[in-house]
Amino acid sequence: MHIFAIANQKGGVAKTTTSVNLAAALTASGQRTLLIDLDPQGNATMGCGIDKRDLKASVYQVLLQMATLAEARVMSPSGKFDVLPANRDLAGAEVELVDLDLRETRLKTALAAHQADYDFVIIDCPPSLSMLTLNGLCAAHGVIIPMQCEYYALEGLSDLVNTIKKVHANLNRDLKIIGLLRVMYDPRNTLSNQVSAQLEEHFGDKVFKTLVPRNVRLAEAPSYGVPGVLFDKAAKGAQAYVAFAAEMIDRVNSWKEKS
Ligand code: ADP
Ligand code: MG
Repeated sequence: MHIFAIANQKGGVAKTTTSVNLAAALTASGQRTLLIDLDPQGNATMGCGIDKRDLKASVYQVLLQMATLAEARVMSPSGKFDVLPANRDLAGAEVELVDLDLRETRLKTALAAHQADYDFVIIDCPPSLSMLTLNGLCAAHGVIIPMQCEYYALEGLSDLVNTIKKVHANLNRDLKIIGLLRVMYDPRNTLSNQVSAQLEEHFGDKVFKTLVPRNVRLAEAPSYGVPGVLFDKAAKGAQAYVAFAAEMIDRVNSWKEKS
């Protein structure tokens, strides 16, 4: 089981779009996949066709150990993968976890019993470096950072990298940055191209080969509760996420060969 957190403390950088589409594309290529929504906004939950207002239990109850993962997970009717859903209840977890023991490792603990259930676990983190994101980073083996190729793209990246380093040093020796994913890419924009080239120069093979273009079909899909990769398979955005899933499967297989 490979666990990846999709993180960037900026909002609107396609964390949720990447999480939902990666989960759907992995599932379509035969990987048993769980998507965990760690954002109280519940956008990943809704984008998978699950009504966040109508949950028996959610990731909130799992973090507070009032429900098990097996009790709280639901299958995405459109994507056919399991989802540990979220809604506004989760906003309270931040405060309620503060006084509890082992508060950063609640999600990790919940996943430990399900090692055999999944090939991939994808965690959609909220736009902050909060206790919720910490739970995501403690549970994960790797971090995927979606980034827009704009002038301020690198601003804030050092805060995220420092947080990841601290988690690595103190809480989770397994954690590493898997890569930066360029999203909402516009090849006609000179600045996009320049920033993209800079990322490749600075971060080398930590930059995924796949570029996700700006594509309106990816933005439309969530309102239908269907992952973009299934909503319009021919769209450029959908094809990019299918390619990204293949790139992730290749990476994981190359680690297996090395070890
Ligand atoms: P985050 O989870 O980081 O806040 P979202 O995944 O919700 O970001 O994306 C922010 C907005 O951008 C959403 O409206 C989403 O539909 C849109 N979006 C994401 N990726 C793309 C893309 N490649 N092309 C067009 N719109 C996109
Ligand atoms: Mg989001």
